[in-house]
Amino acid sequence: MKKFPFKLLRKLRALALNHLKPYCVLIDKDMKVTAMSGEAEFYGFADLSLGDDAKEQFPFLFDLGLTEEIRLPFVDMHNGHAAHVDIVPERNDIYAIFIDATEQRDQQRALQQKANELKLLTHRQEQLMQALRIARDDLAIKRRQAEESSMAKGRFISGMSHEFRTPLTSILGYVELLSAQSRQSLVASHLTAIERSARHLLSLIENVLDEARLERDELLVCSAPTDLFSMAEDISSIFKSLAAQKHLAFRLYKEVPQNVELDGVRLRQVLINLLGNAVKYTNEGAVTLELNWQENRLNAAVSDTGPGIPSAHLENIFKPFHRSDKSNHEGAGLGLAISKQLIELMGGQLYVESTPKLGSRFGFSIPATRIDQCSSAAQPLGLGTAEGHTTGKGRILLAEDNEDIVRLFELFLTDAGYEFISTADGQQAVNVALQERPDIVFMDLNLPVLNGLDATEKLRNARFLNPIIALTASPSKGDRRRALDAGCSDYLLKPIDMSHLLTITHELIAEKCHAVR
Ligand code: ADP
Repeated sequence: MKKFPFKLLRKLRALALNHLKPYCVLIDKDMKVTAMSGEAEFYGFADLSLGDDAKEQFPFLFDLGLTEEIRLPFVDMHNGHAAHVDIVPERNDIYAIFIDATEQRDQQRALQQKANELKLLTHRQEQLMQALRIARDDLAIKRRQAEESSMAKGRFISGMSHEFRTPLTSILGYVELLSAQSRQSLVASHLTAIERSARHLLSLIENVLDEARLERDELLVCSAPTDLFSMAEDISSIFKSLAAQKHLAFRLYKEVPQNVELDGVRLRQVLINLLGNAVKYTNEGAVTLELNWQENRLNAAVSDTGPGIPSAHLENIFKPFHRSDKSNHEGAGLGLAISKQLIELMGGQLYVESTPKLGSRFGFSIPATRIDQCSSAAQPLGLGTAEGHTTGKGRILLAEDNEDIVRLFELFLTDAGYEFISTADGQQAVNVALQERPDIVFMDLNLPVLNGLDATEKLRNARFLNPIIALTASPSKGDRRRALDAGCSDYLLKPIDMSHLLTITHELIAEKCHAVR
């Protein structure tokens, strides 16, 4: 065996000290192995012997014609290891020095793998970003379309609201008038049927409109001085008779202050919804309304001895259009959804407790402020000082362009002894009011020539101090506030209950007489 030169041996020792598993093989010009040293087994050369033909084992050394040292990096060995192979030409011989590069190669491969994965991820991310951009643009288009259709829906709803309420005012008003005149029981019962259907239609319309307004965040609650005693009396007189028709008992328990500040219109709507359901779904027993007061909160509960609600349905009954009732009761499945949202807008929570076959109890607690009965806040807004007539009867002006409604007001008011005048546009209303000095003006807000709000403002600027009551068929967000700001004393929503109209008229006239004395 040939000997390795000293310089080479020193190199091999240094590599061994660095754990690089050196292996050196000397190959002569005939490609025969003439010397070897180092970790042959590590590189898979355990069987290599002196005199072996190197061509087979080291084909990459063959015919190189080298004149100076070169390094072949990361040469893969048959056994899976890798080596940097330094090839050193020495006269007619070649030294091949194998240096372990397995770990380095593996690290490099792992790095390459990571780089490949990263490249794929970047590509994927780019694709996702692109999809996201498309989805965002799509969403923007859809949102614009939704906004446009929501605006169109809003216009449709307020238009419909006006279209429905005005004829319903006529229907209900004339039915009331005919009922008072009719002495025949058959006619009276037909009229009751018409009234019941018209009221049902009205409540369906109200619910559909409210649901749409709630959906668009347009329904606001508006606190105002409210007489809880008269509300409770009013509601119980309605439900006492409805319950009696089904041979149910109706009970009212109330322990509340008389005057409080809350949204009386919405509270009444919720109580009517809950009581309406209680009477509708109960076939025997009783329906109870409880009202009590606790630390600036009004607690209310409506309970019945009806069929109850299976627990599986309880979480769904507050969803719009959900109806778990399988019998033929009328309803659109909106009452509870609206009531729940109204109670939340008023700062409370609507809850239900129900036991199948025993009954249900719906309740809530809302914040409210108690008002001192003598405080001026409990008075209707804007009632002026005495002006014109001071007798128990008085002169009433109605500014309204719907002839049927004008005729209806005329019939009710003249029948009650009032002097009645009317105008069909806002400008005329201003002129007539300033000339005739009516004790009360009922002012439709949707008038031709000059709208009701502008007419009211003109009257107030001209120091007309008597009550002006706004009438509207299409309530929208902030309407009530705008009417009061323009100088209206109060605000009535169509369809107007004629008995309520007479009560208000009597009260306002009595108020004036009292102020004059
Ligand atoms: P509607 O009464 O118009 O169907 P609601 O939203 O008021 O709609 O009520 C939803 C459902 O809840 C009703 O269909 C009925 O199944 C159930 N429900 C409501 N109140 C009662 C009650 N007092 N007793 C039994 N079931 C009730």
